[in-house]
Amino acid sequence: MVANPRRPSTSSALRLARQAWRLLHLDSQRAIACADKALARALAQGDVLAEGWARLARGIHLLYFVTPAAAAVELEQARACFDAEGDRAGQLLAGAGLARGLWRAGHFEESLAQALALRDEGLHVLRPDQRGILLNTIAGCYSALGHSEEALAYMFQALRDAGPSKAHGFDVVLHCNLAHEHVQLGDHLEALRHVDQGINRCKALDNVRLLSVLLINRVICLTELDRPHEALPDIEQLLALPADADGRGTMGSCFETLAVAALSAGNVALGGDLVARALAAPPSADPDEQVERVVAAAMLDQARGNLPQALRRLQAAEAMAGGGTVGLNLRPRIRFFQTLADLHEALGDAKSALAAMRAWQRLQVQRAERTSRARYQAAALQTELLRLQHKLDDSVARRNATERAKAELEAINEQLSRKIDEVEALQAALKGQATRDFLTGLFNRRHLNDILPGMLALAGRDRQPFAVAMIDLDHFKGVNDRLGHDAGDSLLSAFGELLARHMRKSDIACRYGGEEFCLLMPRTDARGAARKVNALLKLWRGASFEFGGEPLEGVSFSAGVSDSRIASESAAQLVKSADEALLAAKDAGRGRVLSAGEITAASA
Ligand code: GH3
Ligand code: MG
Ligand code: MG
Repeated sequence: MVANPRRPSTSSALRLARQAWRLLHLDSQRAIACADKALARALAQGDVLAEGWARLARGIHLLYFVTPAAAAVELEQARACFDAEGDRAGQLLAGAGLARGLWRAGHFEESLAQALALRDEGLHVLRPDQRGILLNTIAGCYSALGHSEEALAYMFQALRDAGPSKAHGFDVVLHCNLAHEHVQLGDHLEALRHVDQGINRCKALDNVRLLSVLLINRVICLTELDRPHEALPDIEQLLALPADADGRGTMGSCFETLAVAALSAGNVALGGDLVARALAAPPSADPDEQVERVVAAAMLDQARGNLPQALRRLQAAEAMAGGGTVGLNLRPRIRFFQTLADLHEALGDAKSALAAMRAWQRLQVQRAERTSRARYQAAALQTELLRLQHKLDDSVARRNATERAKAELEAINEQLSRKIDEVEALQAALKGQATRDFLTGLFNRRHLNDILPGMLALAGRDRQPFAVAMIDLDHFKGVNDRLGHDAGDSLLSAFGELLARHMRKSDIACRYGGEEFCLLMPRTDARGAARKVNALLKLWRGASFEFGGEPLEGVSFSAGVSDSRIASESAAQLVKSADEALLAAKDAGRGRVLSAGEITAASA
């Protein structure tokens, strides 16, 4: 290995290795080819992480197809790579693979302890498609130790994690194992359901090994359900399956199981062939297989009419089948005593037949107990799942309700702010009506009285002059009299318009009453105000009107101006001072602007 390699975040070796992992259950041959290639590339590039994943895929493959010992070497190396790279998921998976190896070697307790130690972290760190190997190892240990409840629970959890879309074919392994577990419990209909599901999914996979295990399980189910005839096509299919590339037969040593099915279906020729194959296989260390071989051979003897030989075979194995041998499943034992009872009966030995029946019955009771426990567990799991689903539904519903409520609240808020706008507009309008003069649109006298003291105080603080002009239209009564009141109104309104158009933004124009107006001019002294009002007078004189065909030209006004320096005491004083100047202007012949200062100077 090259130390400290420079590696892109996802190297081609790592991609290959991950592909090998995904292919493990989909296509074992491609998976191993891919893993080999990934390993070669990783080693050439000094890519330790890719090496870890390549060795992991190889290790799992070796576990399925070669020996646990060969797998362990590869998995240990994988783990060392993951240790070096600090890849926790890789470490956990290598650990799960090693535990699975212990299981395959028959060290169930040890395997379980190792796998359980990885469980909690594994559930957090591993992706759903990766968790399966860990959960399935735990399930396998519980199954082997006879704890079907736990086995089923872990298998269901693994199946839940590994939906068909995510599992890269691992779900088929789980259906297969669930079928096996239900067979152990004698729940053959449920087992058949999983087998059929698995076989159906297997069509999308290129995994002969898995298909063969599923088919064997279907043969077992159909035989146990007393429908052995239906199993015959499966037996044919199994026998036609190609052997693995590594030369290990697809079915391992299951010929005895097939033989029992064929003989139960009355196919003695096929049964004979299968028994011969079973007996030709190397002696098995598995007590289940040993017992089943004896049963198959005895059934064949019986089918051929050699009852004493059949009996001798069974009696030789009775101690093994009847004793509480560890690892011996109930199914072969039950089959054993059923066959023994049949044989005794056929031989006319009622007493021995009854004893065999009793042994058979004891085992059946045992199996029924396990089944009901496991069924209860499965039901509890279903309830748990339903509860979780309801919880999820509830929270979704709550979220929807919250969103609905939020939307309603927003609508109400919007309505409310619209209402507030309306009310404000209304209030503004009301206020406008209270401060404005309806005819001219200028402020009214009330408003003038409201604001003048404040404006004056402000001007005082800022040390700025503040001017007031009082304006009175000349001979206005004559307009009314000659042209009518409406014409008078129009003229007032025209004058309002003239003021509004020509005053500064900071000036305030008011209709003081009748044909009298008042201008408030901040930052202006009486002289400036007089100039301004004279300019207005010029404009007013230049204006020409026509009312009902009657022309009106050369109108004038008289005005008096004053400022806060001349009349410094109060607002009322200032207005009064301007008003006096206005009176003076009238007296002086109208059509002019006089300043309070001038009058004071003149009268002084
Ligand atoms: P002077 O030059 O001395 O000011 O003479 P004048 O005619 O303008 O003054 P006077 O005070 O004699 O008459 C004011 C008239 O203004 C009397 C009143 O009927 C009229 N007037 C007051 N308010 C209104 C109004 O809103 N519309 C109309 N058309 N006339 C109004
Ligand atoms: Mg007047
Ligand atoms: Mg007048």
